[in-house]
Amino acid sequence: MAAFAEEKVLSVHHWNDTLFSFTTTRDPSLRFKTGQFVMIGLEVDGKPLMRAYSVVSPNYADHLEFYSIKVQNGPLTSRLQHLKVGDTLLLGRKPTGSLIMDNLTPGKNLYLLSTGTGLAPFMSVVRDPEFYDAFDKIILTHGVRWKSELGYYDYIRNDLPNDEYFGEQVKEKLIYYPTVTREAFDNEGRLTDLITSGKLFTDIGLPPFDPAVDRVMICGSPSMLKDLVILLEERGFTEGTSNKPGNYVIERAFVEK
Ligand SMILES: Cc1cc2nc3c(=O)[nH]c(=O)nc-3n(C[C@H](O)[C@H](O)[C@H](O)COP(=O)(O)OP(=O)(O)OC[C@H]3O[C@@H](n4cnc5c(N)ncnc54)[C@H](O)[C@@H]3O)c2cc1C
Repeated sequence: MAAFAEEKVLSVHHWNDTLFSFTTTRDPSLRFKTGQFVMIGLEVDGKPLMRAYSVVSPNYADHLEFYSIKVQNGPLTSRLQHLKVGDTLLLGRKPTGSLIMDNLTPGKNLYLLSTGTGLAPFMSVVRDPEFYDAFDKIILTHGVRWKSELGYYDYIRNDLPNDEYFGEQVKEKLIYYPTVTREAFDNEGRLTDLITSGKLFTDIGLPPFDPAVDRVMICGSPSMLKDLVILLEERGFTEGTSNKPGNYVIERAFVEK
């Protein structure tokens, strides 16, 4: 069996100059857990050029979706951003990752804390009915610099609550909290500051973090992860793994090179 599967690009959407998303065909044999990532890439000079990508689409969908940065001179994304419908995408066969429900102990509220493309795995989570069954509230936060970086904003606000299968659960349980740092917006500031000051909790009408009832998934820049882990550990949270579920889990949205 070839090392990578080949899938066809079905659609491409450019959100702005720095972000785009695309969908591809999905081999039915590719199974993944909500929140996992997979290696994707292109053949360059006869060799596969692969990078880790979180799966955006829900695990029951017959296609795959990804949400991508465009890094100027980035080996993969300088090419990937020119994808067109019908192009071939290489796909790893072993999805993996720590942002999965199995790594968390049962809880009441699930916080999904993301910055930038760290939103990607949580787009899969907020479309998985199992998560709505497991939690009373799901709080999706997305921190970006500019409003134009709030990918999926309209979809989350307008389409998700009207989904024919789980729209009612979304209306009852999902709280969406996008926040912007460099221009005026409904919510402004860094997630860590909004958590430390308590403003996040006041705005959404829930009590501050409590490891007894709150579960947290984090996906963002290395510095955002570092700050949030300190903040959570100070409040008594422990990281969950596949061997020992805990009350928070983390995944890097990218690696600083
Ligand atoms: C577990 C995991 C999951 C990932 N999921 C995604 C995803 O869903 N979507 C996505 O776009 N990327 C994701 N990445 C990053 C991705 O693997 C690549 O780094 C990215 O596609 C850029 O590839 P490149 O070859 O163009 O540049 P690279 O050589 O890989 O990166 C060059 C530099 O660009 C910056 N950079 C890379 N990726 C990002 C990013 N996403 N946001 C901001 N700055 C970045 C970093 O400073 C990095 O050093 C993930 C990384 C990891 C480790």
